[in-house]
Amino acid sequence: MRVHAIEAFDDNYIWAIETNNNDKVIIVDPGEAKPVQQWLEQKNKSIETILVTHHHYDHTGGIAELIKQSPCPVIGPENPEIKTLTRTVTEGDELTVGGIQWQVLTTPGHTLDHISFYTPGFLFCGDTLFSGGCGRMFEGTPEQFTQSLLKLRKLPGETRVFCAHEYTQANVNFALKVEPENAVLQSYAEKVRMLREQEQITLPSTLQLELAINPFLRFDQKSVIAAANKHAESVKNTPEDVFYTIRQWKDNA
Ligand SMILES: [Zn+2]
Repeated sequence: MRVHAIEAFDDNYIWAIETNNNDKVIIVDPGEAKPVQQWLEQKNKSIETILVTHHHYDHTGGIAELIKQSPCPVIGPENPEIKTLTRTVTEGDELTVGGIQWQVLTTPGHTLDHISFYTPGFLFCGDTLFSGGCGRMFEGTPEQFTQSLLKLRKLPGETRVFCAHEYTQANVNFALKVEPENAVLQSYAEKVRMLREQEQITLPSTLQLELAINPFLRFDQKSVIAAANKHAESVKNTPEDVFYTIRQWKDNA
């Protein structure tokens, strides 16, 4: 399964997933129509289905125009705010798109409606998990967000993580404040710096790498707990407390 990144806005990625049908791709989170239309034209492909992770405009803003030009199913979470959906899905639903069987995971925290799409080897997690970071907690609670991250953490390590933003460099710079001694993080930060210097994409990441470097997946590691306690100047021991402390720390960094 080949996946292509289509750049949108300043730092969004819209993912184009090749299907069993050579002429068709699945498009994930088209916040803008134009870059998708240009890409399709260039590659001589059309859209089989649009998948949506959550209601934010930078993930949904291009849908209306794309389906006006060429109608196709639009599948996403139950949320009346996303008016273009033709089908809503939630965890446990059977979903076959483009000849690929998908598992839907509810991953609230960034927003309440957030879902992620998983098929062995590939995770499309929108703004829930980023490389080196996670989405801002706009609508959910620390408990919800932590549960969502725990769910993603259980997927196989080789799973490639296709998140929706190129935030990796800022994220790893922050992660180094939390875990300055983390050797894997140090070398990843250097790799990311070189890639970004050449304006190259840093994604997809892998879950295995994220488990080693992402403080938002490492809320039960001693070094991360210690850093959260030091920052908050109080004892934070539960995953939710550690997660929330680091999330606030990053928000105010
Ligand atoms: Zn968002």
